[in-house]
Amino acid sequence: MITAENTAQPTTPTVLLSISNVEARYGAVRALRGVSLDVPQGGFVAILGANGAGKSTTLKTISGLVEPEKGSIRYDGRAVTGQRPDAAVGRGISHVPEGREVFPFLTVRENLAMGAFTRRDRVGIAADLERVYGYFPILRERTGQQAGRLSGGQQQMLAIARALLAKPRLILLDEPSLGLSPRLIGEIFTILTRINREDGVTLMVVEQNARIALDHADYGYVLELGRVVLADTAARLRENEDVREFYLGHRAETVRGDARRWKRRKTWR
Ligand code: ATP
Repeated sequence: MITAENTAQPTTPTVLLSISNVEARYGAVRALRGVSLDVPQGGFVAILGANGAGKSTTLKTISGLVEPEKGSIRYDGRAVTGQRPDAAVGRGISHVPEGREVFPFLTVRENLAMGAFTRRDRVGIAADLERVYGYFPILRERTGQQAGRLSGGQQQMLAIARALLAKPRLILLDEPSLGLSPRLIGEIFTILTRINREDGVTLMVVEQNARIALDHADYGYVLELGRVVLADTAARLRENEDVREFYLGHRAETVRGDARRWKRRKTWR
Protein backbone atom coordinates (compact mmCIF):
# COMPACT_ATOMS: atom_id res chain seq x y z
CA MET A 1 0.00 0.00 0.00
CA ILE A 2 1.24 3.46 -0.83
CA THR A 3 1.13 5.76 2.16
CA ALA A 4 2.24 9.35 2.60
CA GLU A 5 5.10 8.01 4.67
CA ASN A 6 6.66 5.72 2.08
CA THR A 7 6.24 8.20 -0.79
CA ALA A 8 7.99 11.02 1.10
CA GLN A 9 11.12 12.23 -0.70
CA PRO A 10 14.29 12.59 1.35
CA THR A 11 14.61 16.25 2.29
CA THR A 12 17.66 18.16 1.07
CA PRO A 13 19.28 20.04 3.93
CA THR A 14 19.10 23.82 3.64
CA VAL A 15 22.43 25.40 2.80
CA LEU A 16 23.26 28.01 5.45
CA LEU A 17 26.60 29.12 4.03
CA SER A 18 27.88 28.84 0.51
CA ILE A 19 31.32 29.98 -0.63
CA SER A 20 31.98 30.10 -4.32
CA ASN A 21 35.38 30.49 -6.01
CA VAL A 22 36.73 32.71 -3.26
CA GLU A 23 40.21 34.11 -3.77
CA ALA A 24 42.09 36.08 -1.14
CA ARG A 25 45.61 37.36 -0.73
CA TYR A 26 47.90 39.01 1.79
CA GLY A 27 49.94 41.34 -0.40
CA ALA A 28 51.87 39.10 -2.75
CA VAL A 29 50.79 35.88 -0.97
CA ARG A 30 47.82 34.16 -2.63
CA ALA A 31 46.19 32.46 0.34
CA LEU A 32 42.97 31.26 -1.36
CA ARG A 33 42.92 30.32 -5.04
CA GLY A 34 39.25 29.66 -5.67
CA VAL A 35 37.69 27.97 -2.64
CA SER A 36 34.13 26.68 -2.99
CA LEU A 37 32.24 24.92 -0.23
CA ASP A 38 28.77 24.57 1.30
CA VAL A 39 27.76 24.30 4.94
CA PRO A 40 24.26 22.93 5.58
CA GLN A 41 22.02 24.39 8.27
CA GLY A 42 22.70 22.34 11.42
CA GLY A 43 25.81 20.72 9.94
CA PHE A 44 29.16 20.05 11.59
CA VAL A 45 31.78 20.64 8.92
CA ALA A 46 35.53 20.10 9.33
CA ILE A 47 38.14 21.96 7.28
CA LEU A 48 41.36 20.00 7.16
CA GLY A 49 44.75 20.69 5.63
CA ALA A 50 48.42 21.26 6.34
CA ASN A 51 50.00 24.48 7.64
CA GLY A 52 49.41 27.37 5.29
CA ALA A 53 46.71 25.58 3.24
CA GLY A 54 44.32 28.51 3.71
CA LYS A 55 42.04 27.13 6.44
CA SER A 56 42.18 30.16 8.76
CA THR A 57 41.88 32.55 5.83
CA THR A 58 38.71 30.75 4.70
CA LEU A 59 37.14 31.38 8.12
CA LYS A 60 38.34 34.99 8.07
CA THR A 61 36.65 35.69 4.74
CA ILE A 62 33.37 34.46 6.27
CA SER A 63 33.62 36.53 9.45
CA GLY A 64 34.78 39.61 7.55
CA LEU A 65 38.35 39.78 8.85
CA VAL A 66 39.72 39.27 5.33
CA GLU A 67 38.06 40.68 2.23
CA PRO A 68 37.93 38.26 -0.71
CA GLU A 69 39.55 39.48 -3.89
CA LYS A 70 37.20 37.41 -6.03
CA GLY A 71 34.29 35.02 -5.58
CA SER A 72 31.15 35.21 -3.50
CA ILE A 73 29.87 34.23 -0.07
CA ARG A 74 26.18 33.64 0.59
CA TYR A 75 24.78 33.21 4.08
CA ASP A 76 21.19 32.47 4.92
CA GLY A 77 20.18 33.13 1.32
CA ARG A 78 21.90 36.54 1.01
CA ALA A 79 25.14 37.72 -0.58
CA VAL A 80 27.47 38.75 2.26
CA THR A 81 30.77 38.86 0.38
CA GLY A 82 33.16 41.29 2.05
CA GLN A 83 30.84 41.98 5.01
CA ARG A 84 32.34 43.77 8.03
CA PRO A 85 33.05 41.71 11.18
CA ASP A 86 30.33 43.50 13.17
CA ALA A 87 27.81 42.72 10.41
CA ALA A 88 28.81 39.05 10.58
CA VAL A 89 28.21 39.02 14.36
CA GLY A 90 24.84 40.70 13.78
CA ARG A 91 23.91 37.88 11.38
CA GLY A 92 24.65 35.25 14.00
CA ILE A 93 28.20 34.27 13.01
CA SER A 94 30.66 33.81 15.91
CA HIS A 95 34.35 33.33 15.22
CA VAL A 96 36.57 31.60 17.81
CA PRO A 97 40.07 32.42 16.52
CA GLU A 98 43.16 30.28 16.81
CA GLY A 99 44.89 30.76 20.17
CA ARG A 100 41.54 31.47 21.96
CA GLU A 101 42.13 35.22 22.57
CA VAL A 102 40.22 35.64 25.81
CA PHE A 103 40.53 38.97 27.65
CA PRO A 104 43.25 37.93 30.15
CA PHE A 105 42.68 40.67 32.74
CA LEU A 106 38.91 40.28 32.83
CA THR A 107 37.22 37.61 34.93
CA VAL A 108 35.52 34.58 33.42
CA ARG A 109 32.13 36.21 34.10
CA GLU A 110 33.22 39.46 32.42
CA ASN A 111 34.55 37.58 29.39
CA LEU A 112 31.20 35.83 29.06
CA ALA A 113 29.38 39.15 29.37
CA MET A 114 31.47 40.43 26.44
CA GLY A 115 30.03 37.58 24.36
CA ALA A 116 26.51 38.86 25.04
CA PHE A 117 27.57 42.46 24.33
CA THR A 118 25.13 43.03 21.46
CA ARG A 119 22.11 41.45 23.22
CA ARG A 120 19.44 43.23 25.23
CA ASP A 121 17.33 40.20 26.31
CA ARG A 122 18.48 39.85 29.93
CA VAL A 123 16.32 36.79 30.58
CA GLY A 124 17.66 35.05 27.48
CA ILE A 125 21.24 35.94 28.42
CA ALA A 126 20.77 34.52 31.94
CA ALA A 127 19.33 31.30 30.47
CA ASP A 128 22.22 30.99 27.99
CA LEU A 129 24.72 31.61 30.78
CA GLU A 130 23.22 28.69 32.69
CA ARG A 131 23.39 26.59 29.53
CA VAL A 132 27.11 27.29 28.98
CA TYR A 133 27.85 26.63 32.68
CA GLY A 134 26.07 23.32 32.11
CA TYR A 135 28.42 22.50 29.24
CA PHE A 136 31.50 23.81 31.06
CA PRO A 137 30.97 23.46 34.85
CA ILE A 138 34.60 24.50 35.49
CA LEU A 139 33.74 28.00 34.24
CA ARG A 140 31.09 28.37 36.93
CA GLU A 141 33.66 27.34 39.54
CA ARG A 142 36.14 29.88 38.16
CA THR A 143 33.64 32.63 37.44
CA GLY A 144 35.49 35.31 39.46
CA GLN A 145 38.98 34.31 38.29
CA GLN A 146 41.02 36.30 35.77
CA ALA A 147 40.83 34.53 32.41
CA GLY A 148 44.61 34.82 31.92
CA ARG A 149 45.10 32.55 34.94
CA LEU A 150 43.04 29.69 33.48
CA SER A 151 44.72 26.66 31.91
CA GLY A 152 44.87 26.43 28.09
CA GLY A 153 41.93 24.01 28.02
CA GLN A 154 39.84 26.21 30.29
CA GLN A 155 40.63 29.24 28.10
CA GLN A 156 39.46 27.29 25.04
CA MET A 157 36.25 26.41 26.88
CA LEU A 158 35.82 30.09 27.80
CA ALA A 159 36.34 31.16 24.18
CA ILE A 160 33.66 28.69 23.00
CA ALA A 161 31.32 29.68 25.84
CA ARG A 162 31.77 33.37 25.01
CA ALA A 163 30.92 32.65 21.37
CA LEU A 164 27.75 30.81 22.49
CA LEU A 165 26.60 33.82 24.51
CA ALA A 166 26.25 35.77 21.28
CA LYS A 167 23.46 33.26 20.45
CA PRO A 168 25.02 32.30 17.12
CA ARG A 169 23.56 30.25 14.28
CA LEU A 170 27.04 29.48 12.97
CA ILE A 171 30.27 29.14 14.96
CA LEU A 172 33.61 29.22 13.15
CA LEU A 173 36.27 27.50 15.26
CA ASP A 174 39.93 27.77 14.41
CA GLU A 175 42.01 24.86 15.76
CA PRO A 176 40.21 24.25 19.05
CA SER A 177 42.60 21.35 19.79
CA LEU A 178 45.76 23.47 19.59
CA GLY A 179 48.12 22.80 22.50
CA LEU A 180 45.66 20.68 24.49
CA SER A 181 46.03 17.18 25.91
CA PRO A 182 44.21 14.34 24.10
CA ARG A 183 41.80 14.03 27.04
CA LEU A 184 40.84 17.71 26.90
CA ILE A 185 40.57 17.64 23.11
CA GLY A 186 38.13 14.73 23.41
CA GLU A 187 36.11 16.60 26.04
CA ILE A 188 35.91 19.75 23.95
CA PHE A 189 34.81 17.91 20.81
CA THR A 190 32.19 15.96 22.76
CA ILE A 191 30.75 19.28 23.95
CA LEU A 192 30.93 20.73 20.43
CA THR A 193 28.89 17.76 19.24
CA ARG A 194 26.27 18.47 21.92
CA ILE A 195 26.16 22.15 20.95
CA ASN A 196 25.59 21.07 17.35
CA ARG A 197 22.98 18.37 18.06
CA GLU A 198 21.15 19.72 21.10
CA ASP A 199 21.16 23.43 20.25
CA GLY A 200 21.18 23.09 16.46
CA VAL A 201 24.16 25.44 16.10
CA THR A 202 25.96 24.95 12.78
CA LEU A 203 29.70 24.37 13.26
CA MET A 204 32.61 24.91 10.92
CA VAL A 205 35.83 23.69 12.52
CA VAL A 206 39.35 24.16 11.16
CA GLU A 207 41.59 21.39 12.46
CA GLN A 208 45.04 19.96 11.98
CA ASN A 209 43.96 17.09 14.23
CA ALA A 210 42.09 15.32 11.44
CA ARG A 211 41.30 12.26 13.51
CA ILE A 212 39.30 14.06 16.18
CA ALA A 213 37.66 16.34 13.62
CA LEU A 214 36.50 13.46 11.40
CA ASP A 215 35.32 11.49 14.42
CA HIS A 216 32.89 14.27 15.32
CA ALA A 217 32.06 16.20 12.14
CA ASP A 218 29.59 14.90 9.57
CA TYR A 219 31.28 16.39 6.49
CA GLY A 220 34.81 17.50 5.67
CA TYR A 221 36.78 19.54 3.15
CA VAL A 222 40.51 19.14 2.63
CA LEU A 223 42.38 22.26 1.57
CA GLU A 224 45.76 22.35 -0.06
CA LEU A 225 47.59 25.43 -1.33
CA GLY A 226 44.45 27.55 -1.19
CA ARG A 227 42.17 25.07 -2.99
CA VAL A 228 39.68 22.39 -1.97
CA VAL A 229 41.19 19.08 -3.07
CA LEU A 230 38.72 16.73 -1.44
CA ALA A 231 35.15 17.00 -0.12
CA ASP A 232 33.15 14.13 1.34
CA THR A 233 31.29 12.79 4.33
CA ALA A 234 33.47 12.41 7.42
CA ALA A 235 32.87 8.65 7.35
CA ARG A 236 34.20 8.35 3.78
CA LEU A 237 37.13 10.71 4.44
CA ARG A 238 38.18 8.51 7.37
CA GLU A 239 38.48 5.64 4.91
CA ASN A 240 40.11 7.67 2.12
CA GLU A 241 43.61 6.40 1.42
CA ASP A 242 45.16 9.86 0.99
CA VAL A 243 43.52 11.23 4.12
CA ARG A 244 44.63 8.17 6.07
CA GLU A 245 48.18 8.55 4.84
CA PHE A 246 48.61 12.31 5.13
CA TYR A 247 46.36 13.25 8.02
CA LEU A 248 45.62 10.15 10.08
CA GLY A 249 49.13 8.80 10.22
CA HIS A 250 48.45 5.50 8.40
CA ARG A 251 51.33 4.99 6.01
CA ALA A 252 50.25 3.30 2.81
CA GLU A 253 52.62 0.55 1.82
CA THR A 254 53.17 -0.64 -1.70
CA VAL A 255 55.21 -3.69 -2.44
CA ARG A 256 57.77 -3.68 -5.23
CA GLY A 257 59.63 -6.99 -5.46
CA ASP A 258 60.86 -7.72 -1.96
CA ALA A 259 61.41 -4.08 -1.16
CA ARG A 260 58.76 -2.07 0.58
CA ARG A 261 58.61 1.57 -0.14
CA TRP A 262 56.48 4.27 1.38
CA LYS A 263 54.22 5.93 -1.06
CA ARG A 264 54.98 9.63 -1.25
CA ARG A 265 52.97 12.29 -2.91
CA LYS A 266 53.40 15.92 -2.13
CA THR A 267 50.15 17.28 -3.52
CA TRP A 268 46.86 15.94 -4.78
CA ARG A 269 45.70 16.75 -8.23
P1 ATP B 1 47.87 27.37 9.78
O1 ATP B 1 47.30 26.16 10.38
O2 ATP B 1 49.35 27.39 9.73
O3 ATP B 1 47.26 28.66 10.29
P2 ATP B 1 46.15 27.66 7.48
O4 ATP B 1 45.75 26.53 6.63
O5 ATP B 1 45.16 28.20 8.44
O6 ATP B 1 47.48 27.27 8.22
P3 ATP B 1 46.35 30.36 6.54
O7 ATP B 1 46.70 30.89 7.91
O8 ATP B 1 45.00 30.61 6.03
O9 ATP B 1 46.63 28.80 6.51
O10 ATP B 1 47.45 30.90 5.53
C1 ATP B 1 47.37 30.73 4.11
C2 ATP B 1 48.57 31.41 3.48
O11 ATP B 1 48.53 32.81 3.75
C3 ATP B 1 49.91 30.93 4.02
O12 ATP B 1 50.82 30.94 2.95
C4 ATP B 1 50.26 31.96 5.05
O13 ATP B 1 51.67 32.07 5.20
C5 ATP B 1 49.69 33.22 4.43
N1 ATP B 1 49.26 34.19 5.47
C6 ATP B 1 48.36 33.98 6.45
N2 ATP B 1 48.19 35.10 7.18
C7 ATP B 1 49.01 36.04 6.66
C8 ATP B 1 49.29 37.41 6.96
N3 ATP B 1 48.68 38.03 7.96
N4 ATP B 1 50.20 38.04 6.20
C9 ATP B 1 50.82 37.43 5.17
N5 ATP B 1 50.60 36.14 4.80
C10 ATP B 1 49.71 35.45 5.55
